Amino acid sequence: MKSSGGRAFFAPTAPLAEPRQAFVKLRRLLRALLVHTVAMTSSLCTCARSKPALLSALLVLLLSCASPQTAADEPRAELLVLGTAQDAGVPQLGCRAACCEAVRAGRAPRRLVASVAIGLASSGQRWLIDCGPDIRAQEELLRGFPAGRSEIGPRPALCEGILLTHAHMGHIAGLLQLGREAAASRGLPVWCGPRLAALLRTQAPWHLLVEAGHIVVHEVLDGGVVPLAPGLSAEALQVPHRAECSETYAWIIRGPQRSVLYCPDIDRFSDFAGGVEALLARADCVLLDGTFWSLDEIPGRGTADIPHPPIARTLELLAGRGALVRKLFFTHLNHTNPAGWADSAQALAVRAAGARMLQDGQVLQL
Ligand SMILES: [Zn+2]
Ligand SMILES: [Zn+2]
Ligand SMILES: [Zn+2]
Repeated sequence: MKSSGGRAFFAPTAPLAEPRQAFVKLRRLLRALLVHTVAMTSSLCTCARSKPALLSALLVLLLSCASPQTAADEPRAELLVLGTAQDAGVPQLGCRAACCEAVRAGRAPRRLVASVAIGLASSGQRWLIDCGPDIRAQEELLRGFPAGRSEIGPRPALCEGILLTHAHMGHIAGLLQLGREAAASRGLPVWCGPRLAALLRTQAPWHLLVEAGHIVVHEVLDGGVVPLAPGLSAEALQVPHRAECSETYAWIIRGPQRSVLYCPDIDRFSDFAGGVEALLARADCVLLDGTFWSLDEIPGRGTADIPHPPIARTLELLAGRGALVRKLFFTHLNHTNPAGWADSAQALAVRAAGARMLQDGQVLQL
């Protein structure tokens, strides 16, 4: 792992970016070589007949190096992981068990509540998916993201807009930090499903944000696409999840290079048409609900009222489907989930299967 500007870049993302970076480096090297060679040729070659032929050959080579244009000239979009914990964060309020005491003692990673940011380096624009109770700490992670963002003035805008998944605490509680008691944002676009839009517009305290113009709510139907910028969009995909207050969306982010599906909460794959394989087929990379490792990991409490597909079962379902498993990053981890602890047997099992545990601060190419 290497660090850049306080942000962690993890090895698992490197292979995704390497081919493009290698191509760009090669092209730069060839261009520099050609410029140098042309200069040398112009000054040293005295043969009147060979000089035009040599220059023509170099020109052809230079043009071939400039093509294809796509890889380096397309806008660079990235996804920054702002948090990977279930709604309550890690450590969790009031937990004095080993899972959270180890985090307080610095022996296991602290995890902020699940959220990601999407950034476009060419314009400096950025968008969030979800705005949970850790938004103040996450705003610090966002500093300097994406490269090219200029933050001018005493209170620069948090972002260009927020895509919401659903109404549970870990996904919308941070919106209250945009109100008059706090950041007092101005006209910040918020995209979400119709039930969540109605909740924000009509229920206290959320409607105060709307009425004062701190946020502007835009309804998106299942399958609807939000065009964020040229070459960058977000598609809403409804998934089955406890619907006391709102529907739940996963978001498919499509960037210049590849697509990422963000699905932090889903009750069970059997309730999704086509099951887990159909879900994973929707994008090149999938950040998926990994709340629990197994259904018996909360002592004294069942998980029937908080259904999530346990990671062990998800990997079982995908046995023999290596190409699909390699798309997977598990996120939204409960404090009890041992796969969140580096080098636990469960974390090793995830890696052995070909999937990965998502980490706070990780960056993925889009
Ligand atoms: Zn959640
Ligand atoms: Zn705990
Ligand atoms: Zn939820």
